[in-house]
Amino acid sequence: MKRVYNFSAGPSMLPLEVLEKAQAELPSYNDSGMSVMELSHRSGLFTEIITEAEALLRELLNIPSHYKVLFIQGGASQQFAMVPLNLMKNGKADFVHTGSWSKKAMKEAEKYGKVNVIASSEDDNFTYIPNIDPTTLDPDADYVHITTNNTIEGTAFREIPDTGKVPLVADMSSNILSEEIDVSQFGIIYAGAQKNIGPAGLTVVIIREDLIGNAKDICPTMLDYKTHSESGSLYNTPPTFAIYMAKLVFEWVKELGGLKAMQERNEKKAAILYDYISQSDFYQSPVAEDSRSIMNIPFVIPNHDLDAKFIKEAQAEGLETLKGHRSVGGMRASIYNAMPVEGVEAFVAFMKKFEAENK
Ligand SMILES: *Cc1c(COP(=O)(O)O)cnc(C)c1O
Repeated sequence: MKRVYNFSAGPSMLPLEVLEKAQAELPSYNDSGMSVMELSHRSGLFTEIITEAEALLRELLNIPSHYKVLFIQGGASQQFAMVPLNLMKNGKADFVHTGSWSKKAMKEAEKYGKVNVIASSEDDNFTYIPNIDPTTLDPDADYVHITTNNTIEGTAFREIPDTGKVPLVADMSSNILSEEIDVSQFGIIYAGAQKNIGPAGLTVVIIREDLIGNAKDICPTMLDYKTHSESGSLYNTPPTFAIYMAKLVFEWVKELGGLKAMQERNEKKAAILYDYISQSDFYQSPVAEDSRSIMNIPFVIPNHDLDAKFIKEAQAEGLETLKGHRSVGGMRASIYNAMPVEGVEAFVAFMKKFEAENK
């Protein structure tokens, strides 16, 4: 069987163990004679799956009991609308602008209220995480929004800002479960599943209970957090198979030692790649050192004519999906939880060889 090291930013690699378990259980889940895809979402077997998925996520992230976990659809992009529709009581929110995703989140929020940019790194092409001056925070804002990991630009918040009484809302699509976090610092955490959690089609929302039940009158039922909270994410048919896959991934993370072990592994992987790029005068990182993501690592070869050759030759060695995002150019290696250390080592070995041959 052919398997490659897939450096895609999303949908991205899933652990082989998880795929094999799903494969083994596919035709007849738990001796039911049905696959998970064919189970009623109201059946006992599916109830066990979704209950266990939530319990595992709560355990991994140490989610306090006054937070709800919602399994919904629409991707992180739908959260760009759901958050303001549910939270904008005073009609204004503070945003930290760190790249393409925060821009989309702001554009959507502007439809429902006033968006105030309290910090931005646009002046330097989003290559760093800006400092937040606490005096710029509006105490009457309905929330402060950050993108903890900027998938396209390769930056990440190394420290979570303290927003006092104003709830902090975080788009964690590309770094949820990659390191230990303190959920109580946030009002809402949301993430599309297709980077670190499972297949596309599922969105995970972790929300403090007091932020539920305040939706605007115009808010569609399906976009009201209360709808999903009151029904245990079963108001309508949820993405059942994606929830099952997420459960298998949560089990895999737990078996590997939970988020502490995952973080150590991820830091090690990023260090292998960054250490090599730093000592090389062939490759360059555009990202400020103190703002580097450990999930998405963009880099360039100053002679851009070599980009296509690099990507083609890497692919021939089973190193896939390395083209940088069109807005940044160059290359990008996404090394989410499922990427093993050996994958990064194989990639660095290839980079060395390519450097020697093309310098
Ligand atoms: C991928 C991504 C999104 C978009 O997610 P969808 O599920 O495709 O809507 C939003 N924000 C961040 C940080 C991402 O990485």
